[in-house]
Amino acid sequence: MAGSTIRRTRFAPSPTGLLHLGHAFAALTAAEQADQQGFLLRIEDIDRERCRPEYEAAIYEDLQWLGLSWPLPVLRQSDRMAAYDTALTQLAPLTYPCRCRRGDIRAALSAPQEGILPSGPDGLIYPGTCRDRAMDDIGADDVIRLDAARAFDALGIDQLQFRDEIVMPGQTQVLSRAQFLDSIGDVILSRRGMGTSYHLAVVIDDAAQDISVVTRGQDLFDSTWIHVLLQKLLRLPTPLYHHHHLIRDTAGKRLAKRDDSRAIRYYREAGATPADIRRMVGL
Ligand code: GLU
Repeated sequence: MAGSTIRRTRFAPSPTGLLHLGHAFAALTAAEQADQQGFLLRIEDIDRERCRPEYEAAIYEDLQWLGLSWPLPVLRQSDRMAAYDTALTQLAPLTYPCRCRRGDIRAALSAPQEGILPSGPDGLIYPGTCRDRAMDDIGADDVIRLDAARAFDALGIDQLQFRDEIVMPGQTQVLSRAQFLDSIGDVILSRRGMGTSYHLAVVIDDAAQDISVVTRGQDLFDSTWIHVLLQKLLRLPTPLYHHHHLIRDTAGKRLAKRDDSRAIRYYREAGATPADIRRMVGL
């Protein structure tokens, strides 16, 4: 459990588009789940190519309009590269550089099996082509992968656990080493041109911000296994999780950032109030 005694949650958007109703629900849920002063905002802007300053400005404005407030300064992941670097160095004995592109991975996977390629929360299950390469052989265009089998061996454990307040509350979620290797595999810790990855950055920052309850959508539920494994490897606490349902459109499709018509600011410009938004997302 996290060291904090107050319930501290966060909303962690990426400034790659305007916030929509799904984000409003996620942010309001996080704030509702926090003790007073316990709601934090974090800007997840490691993908420099897709992030835009105007979207970051819109995040602050839309959330304030919704009535939310948070302590300053806001943590921005682009300022945290040194921390991610330190973690990569720490994990180096369990990682390897990988030069495979998506096409190489697809080709390697489709050789023995026809049909749908196996994939998990980090994309296609990596077939291990580069697994024997050493870190000092890393090339400028390589990604860094975690050797998941070696990670479990180093920890001496054969399963992972966490608790979720929404998904089967009261029960411990369990995933075995074999299930991890089959359904997730060797995940990327440092993406090409990024110097980190969502999984690595989120784990380090949730710990650095002393987050005790990670509230986020159920689309990220399976990613949590990666996060729990990284927490163990980096000796960080595993927080409690609160994977909430997703807000869907009338056709049942989950909202995406490109659905501009669902953006909070369009509703606002059309005269909606924050109370209307709350009602629209069922709060
Ligand atoms: N930055 C992620 C997103 O915008 C959220 C990650 C998280 O809450 O763990 O989907």
